[in-house]
Amino acid sequence: MDIHGPIYSRRFGTSIIINLRDHKNEKNCTWRCIYCPWKKENLITKSPEEFPSRTAGNQNFMTESLVKLRRLTQSQSDLKSVILSGNSDPTNYRGFEELVSEIIAFRKTQKGAWSLVCFTNGVALDNESVLNACESVDEIWVKLDCSNIALFQKLNRPVTQAESFKKQVENIGKLHAPCIQTMLWRNQKDFEYQNWTPENLKGLIDIYEQLKPAYVHLLTPKQESLFSAIQPVGHEGMHGFALRIEERGISAEVWG
Ligand code: SF4
Repeated sequence: MDIHGPIYSRRFGTSIIINLRDHKNEKNCTWRCIYCPWKKENLITKSPEEFPSRTAGNQNFMTESLVKLRRLTQSQSDLKSVILSGNSDPTNYRGFEELVSEIIAFRKTQKGAWSLVCFTNGVALDNESVLNACESVDEIWVKLDCSNIALFQKLNRPVTQAESFKKQVENIGKLHAPCIQTMLWRNQKDFEYQNWTPENLKGLIDIYEQLKPAYVHLLTPKQESLFSAIQPVGHEGMHGFALRIEERGISAEVWG
């Protein structure tokens, strides 16, 4: 577990980031999105059964990390957010539920006004205790880039076949007020590997309407950080899509 910050985030203000990776050369996420920012580091993608078990060693480490987090949150008067994120899906961490409840408890004793935010791909939401922990954070941001199984398999590339697209949508639907984050991109070289298509955009709007998220945030990659074939969507296109979502009564913002 790494804890660093404060950093300034345009979306979340002054923030402290908690990265629940176990080793810096591993990526505890069961997807291999073609735009994954951690791909550049050649991180190893683990399958769920390879995620580490909780041991006395990592329990001690969690206690030490919480001491550090308490110190950082106390010393930062303008802190807006503590964010569970990084080169791992936080919900895959075996101590996730306990960590969330510890953070919420000490925020109460500190009378902290900051928000606890968590990013996930939503795969672990079919585990009831993970779902309950996610419901207890202030903002749970779940990824949704594709509106059909063929595109999902091609672009988000789950490690196991069990992670079907249908299950992803069902999992998001278990949250009472999910926030959805959608990455959109073009691919001029290979049209099959883009999600900026009329069919996908229409399908996404239908799924947003079904899931009734609290917010949708739209992002597009920064070209320099990705493969040359993946290209950002222009400002006008992104804002036009946000308007179409808002026409369905769903709050949407462009952050890419
Ligand atoms: S869900 Fe996030 S961490 Fe996992 S592969 Fe996709 S972009 Fe990377």
